[in-house]
Amino acid sequence: MTPVFRFAPSPNGELHLGHALSAILNHDMARETNGRFLLRIEDIDPQRCRPEFETLIFEDLRWLGLDWEEPVRRQSEHVDVYRDALERLRGMGVVYPAFLSRAEVKRRVADREAQGGDWPRDPDGTPLYPTEERDLDPAVAAARIEAGERHLWRLDMERALARLGSEKLAWLETGAAAPEHIPADPSLWGDVALWRWDAPSSYHLSVVVDDALQGVTHVVRGRDLYWSTPVHRLLQRLLDLPAPTYLHHRLLTDESGQKLSKSLQSTGLRALGQAGGTPSDIRRRIGL
Ligand code: GLU
Repeated sequence: MTPVFRFAPSPNGELHLGHALSAILNHDMARETNGRFLLRIEDIDPQRCRPEFETLIFEDLRWLGLDWEEPVRRQSEHVDVYRDALERLRGMGVVYPAFLSRAEVKRRVADREAQGGDWPRDPDGTPLYPTEERDLDPAVAAARIEAGERHLWRLDMERALARLGSEKLAWLETGAAAPEHIPADPSLWGDVALWRWDAPSSYHLSVVVDDALQGVTHVVRGRDLYWSTPVHRLLQRLLDLPAPTYLHHRLLTDESGQKLSKSLQSTGLRALGQAGGTPSDIRRRIGL
């Protein structure tokens, strides 16, 4: 089977050295294995993504000397496909409409914590969404939606996991000397949002649908997405999608040890190029 790699940036800022590491690793691994290299634009969030950034992504990647297959998949053009996946999950009874605002959840967390109680948090430190709406009467929920009440669709983690029975989720991580099966516990994230009111689909839903549709066999991405993989494995199982292998690569940090951010002038690919840096300098700087 031909290996298929992809680089999947979101056009919400300029590319920096961290993106270069991901893109070059995918590109080079595809070349070394006679595989394919795809570029996917993850522009599902209209609040944060801009076409200008997409143009810069193409220019910067070409400048680095990378080439990819055309046409490039742009997520904003495939919302119907993600909606179908959501509908399938709805059909299984593992998603529900969630009406509590972020402010309301925040208030409850603050109240609980002020009384000395604990509120469970996800691996990013964000409080888990309360679970009480899982059992909202469907007719009541439908009426609230009909009345135009703002809501998003969340995965009922308990029901979703119950569908797997005694099966234990895991993924194959290939970064180390020997590939390793990593146990996946998606319940760390609670009832994750799959469809938002302010952006169609979520990162989690669209990424698993697209990786499967595009036949991606190897997901090579930053370590910051390591803990998202349990959610991806769960969605793949529910939607009956194949599991790629995963490699979560090291993250680059700046001089002060902070994770690179899009605003850092000293690490942006464009700024580095304008200051006279060459693609080989970039490879050297990121240790390739
Ligand atoms: N679009 C995601 C990002 O820019 C990457 C998604 C992935 O590689 O799975 O962080």
